[in-house]
Amino acid sequence: MIVHNLDKTNSILNQFVSEIRDITVQKDSMRFRRNIERIGEILSYELSKKLNFQDLQVQTPLGVKKVPLISDQLVLCSVLRAGLPLHLGILNYFDQIENAFISAYRHHSSPEIFEIKVEYLASPSLDEKILILADPMLATGSSLAAVYKTLKKMGEISQVHLVSVIAAKEGIDYVSKHFPENTHLWVATIDDKLNSKGYIVPGLGDAGDLAFGNKL
Ligand code: URA
Repeated sequence: MIVHNLDKTNSILNQFVSEIRDITVQKDSMRFRRNIERIGEILSYELSKKLNFQDLQVQTPLGVKKVPLISDQLVLCSVLRAGLPLHLGILNYFDQIENAFISAYRHHSSPEIFEIKVEYLASPSLDEKILILADPMLATGSSLAAVYKTLKKMGEISQVHLVSVIAAKEGIDYVSKHFPENTHLWVATIDDKLNSKGYIVPGLGDAGDLAFGNKL
């Protein structure tokens, strides 16, 4: 797997990431969602540099200009529900992308033991398409591996780009064993560890709850 950690270079991205982590700012759910969306936009711009381009002629009022434009067929799939603001951010940049949605949740048999349940999928064919798979928190990596297992049934995916906001080192190691070698991972930042409940530390808490409110 090819990992692109955007915090290796200081940029305005640091501001958005610090706001979603900061307990004095993150409780403003509208700001939290918008910051994740903005991070999705920046990650999309960087990801776009690795896509395939084909020259097209664009007619202006004064002449013709040859412009390289994306030639790949792209599908964006987000993991419900926390992936929704990230999905919007990516969609803001890739106008023509097809969309898929998949659910994954932790079914706990005890506070510290859980298995991932995948129950909902709405997806176009993924045959010979590039899959952009968005999940804001790459913690254990088990959700991404489980959803990928289901998505593979939708066709022969030509390449995968994983997009996350915060990734844990352990999760990166796990997904690299479950995705093809040529998979790219785009992350805003990487944290060192997980706690006993599989949450990223220091992370930001529960991204789904911060974006959409607490669940039972
Ligand atoms: N999901 C979250 O929302 N936060 C984590 O730290 C891990 C998984």
